[in-house]
Amino acid sequence: MPTEASICKIQIGEFRNVDPDSLAFAFDALKSNDPQTQNCQLEIKMISAEAICQSNHHSYHPAEANFYACTICGDGIGKLISGQELEIASIIMETVQIETMDETRKA
Ligand SMILES: [Zn+2]
Repeated sequence: MPTEASICKIQIGEFRNVDPDSLAFAFDALKSNDPQTQNCQLEIKMISAEAICQSNHHSYHPAEANFYACTICGDGIGKLISGQELEIASIIMETVQIETMDETRKA
């Protein structure tokens, strides 16, 4: 049985600088090139950035408004825990029926 992709789930981190609308536009433009992807829906999940500060190991959301410093102690980013993702989380495939010409039917 032939299969086609029905849903493609993508995760985009906040720090990836990927515009989800542009990605969706490009996906829709390309998916019609292949019968296995032409009906595929794109689902985008944005992942918020999370960091651990350098010296006190606080967990916080690094943001431009605070110069990416720790919101508790003001220290810099020690380690970025999330926010750099750009990955396919899953692709759901479905089997499809192929309609064949009934040769016994005459016009
Ligand atoms: Zn801190």
